[in-house]
Amino acid sequence: MTKKVLKFGGTSVGTIERIQHVASIVKKEHLAGNNVVVIVSAMAGKTNELIKLSKEISDKFSKRELDVLLSSGEQVTSALLAGALIKLNIKAKSLLNWQIPILTEGEHSNARITNMNVEKINEHLNEKEVVIIPGFQGITKSADITTIGRGGSDATAVAVAKLLNADTCDIYTDVDGVYSTDPNKIPVAKKIDKISYDEMLELSSLGAKVIQSSAVQTAMMYDIPLEVKSTFTERKGTKIFNQENIDYTKSVTGVAYSKDDAKITLIGVEDRPGVAANIFEPLSKAQINVDMVIQNISSDQKTTDVTFTVKRDDVDKTKEILKEKSEIKYKDIIHNDKVAKVSIVGAGMVSTPGVTYKMFRGLSDEKINILAISTSEIKLSVIIDENNTLNAVKKLHTIFDLD
Ligand code: ASP
Ligand code: MG
Repeated sequence: MTKKVLKFGGTSVGTIERIQHVASIVKKEHLAGNNVVVIVSAMAGKTNELIKLSKEISDKFSKRELDVLLSSGEQVTSALLAGALIKLNIKAKSLLNWQIPILTEGEHSNARITNMNVEKINEHLNEKEVVIIPGFQGITKSADITTIGRGGSDATAVAVAKLLNADTCDIYTDVDGVYSTDPNKIPVAKKIDKISYDEMLELSSLGAKVIQSSAVQTAMMYDIPLEVKSTFTERKGTKIFNQENIDYTKSVTGVAYSKDDAKITLIGVEDRPGVAANIFEPLSKAQINVDMVIQNISSDQKTTDVTFTVKRDDVDKTKEILKEKSEIKYKDIIHNDKVAKVSIVGAGMVSTPGVTYKMFRGLSDEKINILAISTSEIKLSVIIDENNTLNAVKKLHTIFDLD
């Protein structure tokens, strides 16, 4: 018998009608003879609404209580979906994380799932019941409720699929798959039928919002094939799996962009060993992630400029830290947060020479200035002026044959 994990995101369960529609999808899978475990998100917008309420109480709202508060969103949709299935004469039961339990480790609001009582779920499946589990949460060994990071229902689905040894894990959402770029902004974007874990990981970390990147990471680690598909159409979705099963006819699979980076430049930094370490050590200690780094050649052999990027939210903190540290000497510190990161991703890049030059030439044809560059085996990212984002994405989509 096939064991299936189905995950429905916030928009898929955003209204009563939609929950009823989800119930009809689950019913079909159940009546086809599958063992079905459903993971649900909170209704779209609910988690943000709850965060807002907590802020009205205090901007230093207790993290423990915040997890108790936020976990309620998924509890609501679990019960509503179970109720909708029961109304359709399907045996269904919601199981909250503490009832199973699903165990987590790590800090509040950012915990990770470590284990689950599989027996408990199997008991219900053996009774021919559909099991519905609220995503995004768990409990600690000492029975505190935790959440596992925004968008965490995807991670719940993958963890449950792994622990249950499920045959499939379907991520139902409001788009019918993963696109070569954002279809809302670039209408010529194409749906990708198959994509490797690595590429998906890059795309989702770089701004493609269809699936949470840490969920992809877990799926990759345990080789759990995923399929992203639409709740609202019956079209085939995007399969995410091991690269060996994919033929690459194109060097680039997708173009992603994000606008959450900022560029910081330290002007007139001393040019001697240890300076870069002095700059980046306190940032790493403060959990600030530095993405790209550029150091100019020093023309006078004494000072140089160091440019790097961090998340926009971290700009103030970064500047504060660098100003505090007296051992870091520089003339000035400037930042620019009106920038965007545009990236091309493709496992086919490894075997195609000239991708880098083609990207740079394409951007220069559009008179777009490159402010910073970073590369990995299957990704090439540039930082550019935010106003040029769509132009850049369009151009790259065209020159790499994705239109
Ligand atoms: N409701 C949570 C969030 O909005 C988890 C999820 O939707 O996956 O982040
Ligand atoms: Mg979500």
